[in-house]
Amino acid sequence: METTVIDGGEEVACDFCNFGEETMGGLLLGSYAICGDCAKTITHPEEITEVFDPNKTFRQNVLEYRVRTYGTSHAITKITTW
Ligand SMILES: [Zn+2]
Repeated sequence: METTVIDGGEEVACDFCNFGEETMGGLLLGSYAICGDCAKTITHPEEITEVFDPNKTFRQNVLEYRVRTYGTSHAITKITTW
C-alpha cells in the first residue's frame, strides 16, 4: 500500500466557479466551498453547512476553516493505492 500526499499549498478556489478568492464571505455546502458571488445563487439554503464571516474574504475564510478542521491551511490530498 502506498500513499501519495499532494500538497496544494494555500490555494483557494470556489468549487462552483473555480475563482472567487477575493469575494467576501462565502459558505460551505456539504464539502463544497462556495465563494461570496456563487453563495448568492444558492437555491437550497437548507443544504448549507456553514456560513463564512461576511467581513472576511472567501480566501481568508477557507484558510481559517482548514486550520480549524485539518490543522493546516494547506490543501492536502492523500491518494492511497494498493
Ligand atoms: Zn464562485
